[in-house]
Amino acid sequence: MKDKQVMARCSCGQVEIEAWGKPIASVICHCDDCQAAGRALGALPDAPPLLDTAGGTGNVLYRKDRVQVSKGGHLLEAHKLTPDTKTSRMVATCCNAPMAITFDDARHWVPLYRDRLEGAVPPVQWRICTKFRPPGVELPDDVPAYAMYPFGMMAGLALSAVAMLVAR
Ligand SMILES: [Zn+2]
Ligand SMILES: [Zn+2]
Repeated sequence: MKDKQVMARCSCGQVEIEAWGKPIASVICHCDDCQAAGRALGALPDAPPLLDTAGGTGNVLYRKDRVQVSKGGHLLEAHKLTPDTKTSRMVATCCNAPMAITFDDARHWVPLYRDRLEGAVPPVQWRICTKFRPPGVELPDDVPAYAMYPFGMMAGLALSAVAMLVAR
């Protein structure tokens, strides 16, 4: 068993993605892309709801070199909001459960959908990108909210990039 392991498991159990080590960040994202994706993916047959009551999507960010598909990789399908976006949301086609977000560019992290996670799931640190929330939507008073990205998240992303370089 690897240190601080989590497992993202689809609703029916045919797809599993494992991640280990210290997560980079644990957030609820309110950006416009996550909201649009949440509505689109949540409308797929049998799909679990993706958005919370304030329109946020829970994600835990792991280093790309600490995430691997351990089961059912052939069932994963990339959903893109637009054909030219570099962001793909990976959905388990067996049960339409959204599993992870991947990037075609050099970004070194992989957000896993929090609702899928089992194991050492870290507590939510921040709500981010809250300036995109629809007018009139009240944010729950649970964790600190940031209009865009908190410094701690940016620092975590930068430090993890350096750590990955050193680990090579
Ligand atoms: Zn499934
Ligand atoms: Zn987002």
